[in-house]
Amino acid sequence: MKTAFITGSSRGIGRAIALRLAKDGFRVVLHGATESDKLLETKKAVEQIGGEAEIAVGDLCDLNAAKALSAKVADADVLILNASLQYRTPWQDISTDAAYEQLNCNFISSLLLIQAAVPHMKESGWGRIITIGSVQEAKPHPDMLVYSASKAAQTNMMQSLSLQLAKDGITVNNVAPGVINTDRNLDALSDPVYAEKVKNSIPVGFYGEPEDCAGIVSLLCSEEGRYITGQSIYVDGGKSVQ
Ligand code: NAP
Repeated sequence: MKTAFITGSSRGIGRAIALRLAKDGFRVVLHGATESDKLLETKKAVEQIGGEAEIAVGDLCDLNAAKALSAKVADADVLILNASLQYRTPWQDISTDAAYEQLNCNFISSLLLIQAAVPHMKESGWGRIITIGSVQEAKPHPDMLVYSASKAAQTNMMQSLSLQLAKDGITVNNVAPGVINTDRNLDALSDPVYAEKVKNSIPVGFYGEPEDCAGIVSLLCSEEGRYITGQSIYVDGGKSVQ
């Protein structure tokens, strides 16, 4: 049985990916910043569909915590880098601390976890690494400058690694969601005027659901995905090309 490690899988997109990969027959390692009720509930949900789940915790803003997760990542066949931190601040007011927190969580921790996972993937001649990006790589929100830049950096890293790991049977891709109905958007979209403006900016005219991101991840992790590498795939109702 292959193992998939999914960061930030206590809720939202990461949870949907974990459930989908469990359905596909992967043993899943679920991860959150802390051992929250939501993380434990996701473990139960995986077990209810007959899956096998383990829990790992660690705040990815803290690079020592990311390094401490190395042992748990070291036997993963699939690594999904989904956890991220996103602050809304006008660019002139971004503090160094806030910039580092987002860069650590969204980019440097991804690098550290990939470094920990690749030796096993190389040894077995098979691996799947998927970074979760954002439509903001194409359409940066003015008040999320560090967030969108960190996602673009992560995608550039994905491209570099896809070439360097291609001969080892390891594919490396990025899945970039648009506006998806998750906790992180609850506050902003509770303002009906802003919500209408956002909806109007999406060509298909509606928000995505976490499960909309899970299908492409499932494909990339399957044997049918073996010839897809170095790609950034937008799951955004057309927003990135508008
Ligand atoms: P979410 O609902 O806000 O959930 C975030 C997940 O990441 C949770 O599991 C959370 O764990 C974990 N996490 C947050 N900060 C962390 C930290 N410092 N250390 C470790 N784990 C941390 O997120 P989402 O909306 O599903 O987004 C998932 C991914 O899709 C993110 O990379 C995001 O940038 C990307 N994305 C989302 C949207 C969208 O509209 N939702 C759009 C574009 C891109 P806890 O539960 O323990 O806090």
